[in-house]
Amino acid sequence: MNQETNPYEMAVKQLESVARLMNLDEGLLEILKKPKRELIVHLPVKMDNGEIAVFTGYRVQHNDARGPFKGGIRYHPSVNLDEVRALAMWMTWKTAVMNLPYGGAKGGIRCNPKNMSESELERLTRRYTYAIREFIGPYVDIPAPDVYTNERTMAWIMDTYSVLTGRMEPGVVTAKPTSLQGSYGRTEATGFGVMVVAREAVKKLKINDEITVAVQGYGNVSYWAAHFAHKWGFKLVAASDTKGGVYNPEGLNPDKLLEHKRKTGSVINFPGAKTISNEELLELPVTILVPGAIEEVITDKNADRIQARIISEGANGPTTPEADKVLYERNILVIPDILANAGGVTTSYLEWVQNLNRLYWKKEEVLSMLEKRMIEAFNDVYSLSESKKVDMRTAAYIMAISRVVEAMEIRGIWP
Ligand code: NAD
Repeated sequence: MNQETNPYEMAVKQLESVARLMNLDEGLLEILKKPKRELIVHLPVKMDNGEIAVFTGYRVQHNDARGPFKGGIRYHPSVNLDEVRALAMWMTWKTAVMNLPYGGAKGGIRCNPKNMSESELERLTRRYTYAIREFIGPYVDIPAPDVYTNERTMAWIMDTYSVLTGRMEPGVVTAKPTSLQGSYGRTEATGFGVMVVAREAVKKLKINDEITVAVQGYGNVSYWAAHFAHKWGFKLVAASDTKGGVYNPEGLNPDKLLEHKRKTGSVINFPGAKTISNEELLELPVTILVPGAIEEVITDKNADRIQARIISEGANGPTTPEADKVLYERNILVIPDILANAGGVTTSYLEWVQNLNRLYWKKEEVLSMLEKRMIEAFNDVYSLSESKKVDMRTAAYIMAISRVVEAMEIRGIWP
């Protein structure tokens, strides 16, 4: 997130502009602008050197009109209340656009996990779980990993919560290790979903030429997007990381590229490929571009030079509102983050369903259910964007906000 922009103000502005288009009732808008509940907890933790450090943690629950709150927990030195508020609101829209029976929440602890030992992180995580225990639960609020938290963190939360309640509660968090009732398919889910919706867009646009793909970043999301693109016969031509990018119009093998990155620490200098910059990667003549690394990379500075036909947003917030306008005018189809990268939360939902029902599905089953849901959501948003004559992002927001508002209205305000 750009340091100068306040993410919560940005999220509220986005909400207001779509609310205007929808003629949303002022009172309902006021409810949606503010989270339902904001928890701030101060967490004393005994560090390895014997000293006590006090950390600040947050859990913001934005809306639960459609189901229990759902959203990740991040550990980062820059975590603050406004950031967590914005992320919680975006989760409400993401779960609604995917039609998952969830609301939106987000959590975070202001800490620097890179300077902490495993046992310090464990004590911090357990203390945080203890502090928020009354406000989470399989039918209340279900956390998941985010920046610098992982399946290990989820295992600690599940264990702490289960010990406190006196019974094993796997459904309290998702993205757990598979040995603790985590779901198969969670690792590849986000990248898989990013490419499923891009493939649907190719069909809608009736593109019959060879499909070429460029991915920015080569971490979890971008690698798996590239992997499935290759598997389905699309040609991966470019990928990048913090050190730069590689380009080969003849095609790159995604698995060999990953092996090269693992060995050398970067995708650059991959045999047979030309080295390019991250900026050049975004402007390549490709069918599908996946910005799958960081936010705000497609801006008013480069939007008029983008040559891709389809942009499938793997990362959160890679396109600025100014760039959105330019891309829409230039007929470039942008599949917005809340739809394109929702494969992760959708698989989290499938994990939760398995946990609550004591079911165990194979990876193929999970990915096939995920694929069906991604296609359905893409088609719903695409149709709405056509009928309302708006871009896909606006359509996704209209769809999400309408679903949340419908649930709020039908439930009513009580007491
Ligand atoms: P990751 O840490 O596995 O990978 C990030 C990749 O981006 C790395 O290859 C890194 O080298 C590269 N990168 C970092 N800074 C860069 C820069 N300035 N220029 C080019 N490349 C850069 O992370 P991830 O899980 O793949 O997540 C990527 C994005 O997708 C994030 O915005 C994340 O919030 C979003 N996202 C992830 C998931 C998920 O399930 N993993 C779900 C939804 C959204």
